[in-house]
Amino acid sequence: MLRPNAFSGAELDRVGARRIDERWLAERLADPTSRGALFTEDAVLATDTGPGGPRPALVGLPLASALSDDEPALLGLSGDTALFAFDASRAAPESLVQLADRPRLVGLREAATVMSQADGGLVAYGATLMNWHRRHRHCAVCGAPTRSAEAGHLRRCPACGAPHHPRLDPVVIMLVSDGDRALLGRKASWPAGRFSALAGFVEPGEALEEAVAREVREESGVEVSHVRYRSSQPWPFPSSLMLGFTADYAGGEVAPRDGELQEVGWFSRAELLDAVAGRGEIRLPEPVAIARRLVDGWLEQG
Ligand SMILES: [Zn+2]
Repeated sequence: MLRPNAFSGAELDRVGARRIDERWLAERLADPTSRGALFTEDAVLATDTGPGGPRPALVGLPLASALSDDEPALLGLSGDTALFAFDASRAAPESLVQLADRPRLVGLREAATVMSQADGGLVAYGATLMNWHRRHRHCAVCGAPTRSAEAGHLRRCPACGAPHHPRLDPVVIMLVSDGDRALLGRKASWPAGRFSALAGFVEPGEALEEAVAREVREESGVEVSHVRYRSSQPWPFPSSLMLGFTADYAGGEVAPRDGELQEVGWFSRAELLDAVAGRGEIRLPEPVAIARRLVDGWLEQG
């Protein structure tokens, strides 16, 4: 069993049933031991004091509230401590960094590499929730401004009553293999030599296995069979859930089809082992990405 994917593993009790307990919530908001993590659009406020590297800065709620112009969202309980997420995207960076000891704004992607599994999971959780609040201030039904409810896990429209739940965008990402070779592609915007597993958004009215087969067909012209789920990964850019699969080659000639990929092709096990070792022309995604985990998993099976 491989280790968990980056951006998962927040060690919190999410206390979902407590989100509608307004009295309990008011007590947590008034509790001087409650703490808040602060998120900008692409970073988290961190404190870099320990030997283990930066950790999310957890500050008292009055200080956090002063730098946020939206209501906080309850992330959960860490032991007995209630943890909230605050949107600090409109705060000046110089006022943010006054809140923490040896402060640093750590980018979301960097958080996955420099923080512990649990802290990376906490960052993905809070960042995705704050991204959603920031982008969904109006009702999708009637256009009226919405209000945060249920401890920040719902937005409700006061005009028409519609409830709006936090948005997640499912993305399938798949490593297609054929014996000793695997199918990878590259976008024109990527650095030279960089290749990754094929991926795409799941469409309405589509099962995950269908999305895998369609995306591979559209991006490469290849047909697949035996689609198998492997693992998943929260991806807070801004709200994706990456769903990782492997699939077997079942036919077709490889050629870029839909214009999304500049190049797509088969790579041998030897070429990919070289890439992992930093040899040769091919560059694989960083280890924090589920694409890399799919490639590593396939190489380990061989
Ligand atoms: Zn409405």
